[in-house]
Amino acid sequence: MKSYRKELWFNAPTRRAFIHITPQVNECLRESGIKEGLCLVNAMHITASVFINDNESGLHADYERWLEELAPHEPVSHYRHNRTGEDNGDAHLKRQIMGREVVVAVTNGKLDFGPWEAIFYGEFDGGRRKRVLVKIIGE
Ligand code: ZN
Repeated sequence: MKSYRKELWFNAPTRRAFIHITPQVNECLRESGIKEGLCLVNAMHITASVFINDNESGLHADYERWLEELAPHEPVSHYRHNRTGEDNGDAHLKRQIMGREVVVAVTNGKLDFGPWEAIFYGEFDGGRRKRVLVKIIGE
């Protein structure tokens, strides 16, 4: 069995962002040489997500509004977590609902997606460098 590991780095200039990362994951798969197996992609930070959905800007605006309704960033005093001196209590909650990781089957050297599936990095506490782990195992 072959094994491949890579960290992808992001530095979103805004507090929140959705970044399409399917091209980078495809590049990892190509580098790995793996044709049959599994590809794990996970955020390495507890205020960011990796998820799969449609690459459609209206949907991403809907996510942004929905997440702000569920867990508004302000007032930051609303969150007990922020008593630690942080201001990212909302980002931890947003990350929880959007998920930590995805696993995609690798078939015949390609990510075996359903229709319109694409991989995104969801940033909820940006303005600093953060990582995504790509791990691919198989033959
Ligand atoms: Zn925090």
